[in-house]
Amino acid sequence: MLSFIPSSVKKKKPLPKRLSAKMFKNTFVKLAQQVSGRAGKSIPPVKLAYKNMLKDPSTKYKPAETVNLPNRQWPNKTITKAPRWLTTDLRDGNQSLPDPMTVEQKKEYFHKLVEIGFKEIEVAFPSASQTDFDFTRYAVEHAPDDVGIQALVQSREHLIKRTVESLTGAKKATVHTYLATSDVFRDVVFNMSQEEAIAKAVEATKLVRKLTKDDPNQQMTQWSYEFSPECFSDTPVEFAVEICEAVKKAWEPTEENPIIFNLPATIEVSTPNVYADKIEYFSTHISERNKVCISTHCHNDRGCGVAATELGMMAGADRVEGCVFGNGERTGNVDLITLALNMYTQGVSPQLDISDINSIIQVSEKCNKVPIHPRAPYGGDLVVCAFSGSHQDAIKKGFTIQDQRKKDNHPLGSQWRIPYLPLDPKDIGRDYEAVIRVNSQSGKGGAAWVVLKSLGLDLPRNMQIEFSTKVQNKADSLGRELHSKEITELFRQTYNFTATSAAMDPIRLLDYSINKESQEKRNITAQIEVNGKVIDIKGTGNGPLSCFINALSKYLNVELEISTYSEHAIGSGKSAQAASYIHLGFRRDSDNEKIYRWGVAVAEDVSDASLNSILTTVNNSLQKQELVLPVSNKAAAAAAAAAN
Ligand SMILES: [Zn+2]
Repeated sequence: MLSFIPSSVKKKKPLPKRLSAKMFKNTFVKLAQQVSGRAGKSIPPVKLAYKNMLKDPSTKYKPAETVNLPNRQWPNKTITKAPRWLTTDLRDGNQSLPDPMTVEQKKEYFHKLVEIGFKEIEVAFPSASQTDFDFTRYAVEHAPDDVGIQALVQSREHLIKRTVESLTGAKKATVHTYLATSDVFRDVVFNMSQEEAIAKAVEATKLVRKLTKDDPNQQMTQWSYEFSPECFSDTPVEFAVEICEAVKKAWEPTEENPIIFNLPATIEVSTPNVYADKIEYFSTHISERNKVCISTHCHNDRGCGVAATELGMMAGADRVEGCVFGNGERTGNVDLITLALNMYTQGVSPQLDISDINSIIQVSEKCNKVPIHPRAPYGGDLVVCAFSGSHQDAIKKGFTIQDQRKKDNHPLGSQWRIPYLPLDPKDIGRDYEAVIRVNSQSGKGGAAWVVLKSLGLDLPRNMQIEFSTKVQNKADSLGRELHSKEITELFRQTYNFTATSAAMDPIRLLDYSINKESQEKRNITAQIEVNGKVIDIKGTGNGPLSCFINALSKYLNVELEISTYSEHAIGSGKSAQAASYIHLGFRRDSDNEKIYRWGVAVAEDVSDASLNSILTTVNNSLQKQELVLPVSNKAAAAAAAAAN
């Protein structure tokens, strides 16, 4: 629909007066023609066929059970400190891959996780395969002292023995057992009563205890124990507490080394507030709470994994399990990067270092062979990019105000307050170049931003408008986004802007001197080179600019007029340079029409910059034959007269 609106309206550009009325009229005529085919016809509303979906899904699907928790406290809480993180990228993440990681890829991934700062890493299901067993041994041998290695095992004797064997010698190790506790799993999958489930969990816990912390030969390792009632999100919460009480009694945890009760949303079945209610219920009903570490393990079936985990933390969870960028079974485990950066942007340190998100993306994409979605929070390619003009303008203004506040030592100077960007891309190793990208939907702000970032030029507003039209035309003609290099190049071409005096320029300024005749009157003598000939030109005015304009006007036999002039410094201190912008008016040689042209020049000296901005603009127009060099005898005579 928007495409019917002329691009000039969309960009809120002032319309050239003579054109605007006509353009509007044309647009409406076009629109009217497009709908005229419909005149008198009625299009009936769509009737839904429900070919596969049920008109009334309640006959097939039941809402999740809620918890009666009238005094729930979590809605008033905020997240104020980092949880204990556990990454299960190498276990839950890896087991979900169509093409699992090779041992080499697992090693690379493991070291990346350590580098990010994860202190608890679930590495494998060592009893399931020799590869998993061997990799667990690798992790045990290569983990820093403060990194605990965790391994998952079913509650069966020979598998538990094999798992403990794989972890032997670790500085810190966690054995993680699980058991089906939800009604549907107990009834449908395992055919086990609640009493049988409790007995089995206790038996497994006692065995792990005997083989680890109670074994005199296993004392070089700090053994921890994790138990997951599966699937907690679908288990009556009273029963979850009951079975965990029994397991706790069998393990006998301490305050220093609490037992980990992992309460998984193995399948996400409800809105996140229901999960939070269950966590708060568990947290307030389990005994010896100080000897218990409550862990969340949220999957993302309903797309609320992050929300459920955050609400779970507010409800009392101490620990969070998940995967980097949300890899994992089905829709994935909760995304740990999103959780961490969500905390970070609230001013709370996640105690993880994501300074170089690109390298994490690289390892994740290489090893998982699953691309990060371009819109994935924080990690996606497009999440820091603004294409639309209004967003670009707002972001650009935000940066300008922030820079000014920093300079002024304003109390808000150190605070990040940029519209549309909740996180400073630099904090995670992304550059600002990615922030504003320019396509045909972009306004003046986008192109101006690129010019500012690449050339240091803060274009005057009207020059921004003019240049953005050229950028839009180019993007339209190519039918794609323009890269910043292309925009910079287009700018150089459009305004004849080169770092040094261009060899192609028809007129080159060799030297000049200005002397003050009186308070209001100055004289310039400038030496210019035209087609290899050195010529002296002279002019008068009240300042260097007007003197030079006067001299060039006489030489070219045309009346040059400065419509706008502005300047600013680039950089500071000794390396500072001056940028000068000129909007120059003159009558075009071909039709005597009055036209205006923008030009810009940069020099170490302000006077040099201002004179060069005029010359650059004149040269640009000479090259486009809007102006011509004096060639006729008459013009040459006039030029000679000007020279004298
Ligand atoms: Zn899982």
